[in-house]
Amino acid sequence: MRSRLSGPFVLPVRDIVRKPGEMREHSLSIPAPERWGEGIVAVPAGGELEVDVRLESVHEGILVSGTVDTRYEGECGRCLREIAAPVEVEFQELFEYPGQETADFEVQDDHVDLETLVRDATVLALPFQPVCQPDCPGLDPVTGERLTESAGAEQQAPIDPRWAALHEFTDQDGSARDRVAPSTEES
Ligand SMILES: [Zn+2]
Repeated sequence: MRSRLSGPFVLPVRDIVRKPGEMREHSLSIPAPERWGEGIVAVPAGGELEVDVRLESVHEGILVSGTVDTRYEGECGRCLREIAAPVEVEFQELFEYPGQETADFEVQDDHVDLETLVRDATVLALPFQPVCQPDCPGLDPVTGERLTESAGAEQQAPIDPRWAALHEFTDQDGSARDRVAPSTEES
């Protein structure tokens, strides 16, 4: 892997190597070479990666920074509905000139290979607990069926039994709730 010298993520830096202050920019459109991500959402193999990258020559090596725009696919972590959403990630890493024992990334024969950098940044940005919508009510713990969206966030928090009766009462008429909420404070 360290000796790979070609491929869509490998960029030439020959013309800026050891010329601090020189800079090049690239806009790349690359299909993901494999599924990126181990969780319930991932960038699928072949998913389009729009990569904007800037290569800056500095004394220690080539400073690589940029953004990747792509989409992840998978399932809502609560209701298992299929979801897909865009994700935009920034990345930055110094590719050091060879000879530095500590270097995580190295300039290799006048090239830099961005694949590991872009993949790791993308995978780290994927949501750990993805949801189809912020207040997805999820599945009914008893029946396992998808709760309707109108059941909403109110059912997520356990209701104090002392308040349950009142809650049912106000819920019978949606407009009553709005009216009751502010005025009950005073009465
Ligand atoms: Zn959901």
